[in-house]
Amino acid sequence: MAKIVIIEDEEDIRELVLYSLKSNQLEGLGFASGQEFFKADLAEGEIDLILLDVMLPDEDGLQILAKLRSDHRYEDLPIIMLTARSSEMDKVKALDLGADDYVVKPFGILELISRINARLRRSKSNDLLVFNEITIDQSRYEVKVNNQLIELPNKEYELLLYLMKNQNLLVSRDSLLLKIWGYDYEGESRTLDIHISNLRKNLGDYAGYIQTVRGQGFKLGSKNA
Ligand code: CA
Repeated sequence: MAKIVIIEDEEDIRELVLYSLKSNQLEGLGFASGQEFFKADLAEGEIDLILLDVMLPDEDGLQILAKLRSDHRYEDLPIIMLTARSSEMDKVKALDLGADDYVVKPFGILELISRINARLRRSKSNDLLVFNEITIDQSRYEVKVNNQLIELPNKEYELLLYLMKNQNLLVSRDSLLLKIWGYDYEGESRTLDIHISNLRKNLGDYAGYIQTVRGQGFKLGSKNA
């Protein structure tokens, strides 16, 4: 069952949405503020979508949206803004800041549910990443090389996933260490080279796709590009 978070200070609306989610076979989790939500410290992959009100006390929805997008746990999560304001400006701002959709209040509950379902379907298809002979199915945690399933240790999987998401782009050593090993990582950056080297071994004939950009980082690219 997909798990939906709603961040909304108006209790009536929050309760109505939670009730409607439940009657539509969706699991809901309500928070009255961004602060409350961040305090809950939900794990990556624990939730499937966030409904985010724009008008909130303390931090408004747009500030929270920016925070969510800069957090690796939530950067790719579908986010639908709930806005009472119908001004074009806010919609543009929300979409610019990385919202996937918005619903203008007062909204019909059926419209909201159908927008949620549409967004969930779309993010499912985003679970599949392809780069030439390499595919990753995130929903199954599966990597295939030339249609053959390969087993990758956790960190190598995450490395490959991140490179696939940024294919043909230079990914710096710092951003890889940050993304894969986290903010509090204090080990050596040689760890990264060891994992890259193991990942290349596991990719066999396709090891060359992972290119070293000397002194900078790595790039997933075609051999002759
Ligand atoms: Ca509100």
